[in-house]
Amino acid sequence: MNLNLLEECAGAKRIGISGHVRPDGDCLGACLGLWQYLGKCFPAANVQVFLEKPADIFKSMKGFGEIDTDFPEEAAFDVFFALDTSVDRLGDAEKYFKAAGKTINIDHHVSNPGGGHINVVRPDVGSTCEIIYDLIDLGQLDRDMAQVLYVGMIHDTGVFQYSNTTPATLEKAAKLISYGFDFPNLILETFYQKSYVQAQVMGRALMESIRFLQGACIVSAIDKKTMEFYNVGPKDLDGIVNQLRNIEGIDCAIFMYETGTLEYKVSMRSSEKVNVAEVAAYFGGGGHARAAGCNLTGTFHDCVNNISLHIEKALKKWEAEHDERDNSH
Ligand code: 5GP
Ligand code: MN
Repeated sequence: MNLNLLEECAGAKRIGISGHVRPDGDCLGACLGLWQYLGKCFPAANVQVFLEKPADIFKSMKGFGEIDTDFPEEAAFDVFFALDTSVDRLGDAEKYFKAAGKTINIDHHVSNPGGGHINVVRPDVGSTCEIIYDLIDLGQLDRDMAQVLYVGMIHDTGVFQYSNTTPATLEKAAKLISYGFDFPNLILETFYQKSYVQAQVMGRALMESIRFLQGACIVSAIDKKTMEFYNVGPKDLDGIVNQLRNIEGIDCAIFMYETGTLEYKVSMRSSEKVNVAEVAAYFGGGGHARAAGCNLTGTFHDCVNNISLHIEKALKKWEAEHDERDNSH
């Protein structure tokens, strides 16, 4: 990875940045971190971020209010960045990417084939924010930039608890918190805190969850009617799948919500036994080995049956490999 951001953007008058649809903390942190950095290094350039409207929990991040959520027609950008995503999940920003003079794709999803003129895809790194940290001149780092990059790190590592957390991640995070932003509050507000209705919907999803594959898997779904009853949207359902995954004995948790008639958005979380990125990729989605997602059509039962075949296969494969290892000792 020898991408020199400043060299690649030198002379550019208009620089655009975007990430995936339904932006999460890492996507948002990476976009706002790079936006701040390029704005600081190229004060004469026009640097813009285009994203679907992120959740309000992120409003303390510098640049939040300046994100363009309307995706208007724009003249071609000199340089356009796709962060934390492959090109096919850019949503309405894909048109800018396609038209840009130079395209740069920075991501950490294994499923990303690299769709830019320049690609930095590092599945070994826990968050796109951590990659951005590696790419910037740390002499330019300031409190606001540190704060937004930190948000991405905590979101994609589950506040440094997932196996994608490395000693290097923690060293970078240590440097970031040295800038003195209020990290305990940031973790609470953007990661753990739920509104009352969000907690109620989560409670309902947990109560109605069903275990299968001898208790190794768990699934729960929220339908459109329930979302309307509680007046919640997709952003209010974050965290439910993690809570399901935390249940004792569970190797794979699935949470789905209805996006249309017989259409579901599916989120999966797993232990080391199941690579959910592979399961999601089979259905046209993607993600990481321990956290992935896809869209499925069919009834709730169709969806669960289809996914469960793949999970069962993965579990059996894992068990066979471990039996072999046990026998060879
Ligand atoms: P979540 O379940 O939190 O929505 O997503 C978990 C991970 O999988 C994230 O890294 C997210 O970007 C990725 N992901 C979720 N849904 C999709 C999808 O439909 N396609 C792809 N390529 N990745 C997804
Ligand atoms: Mn990410």
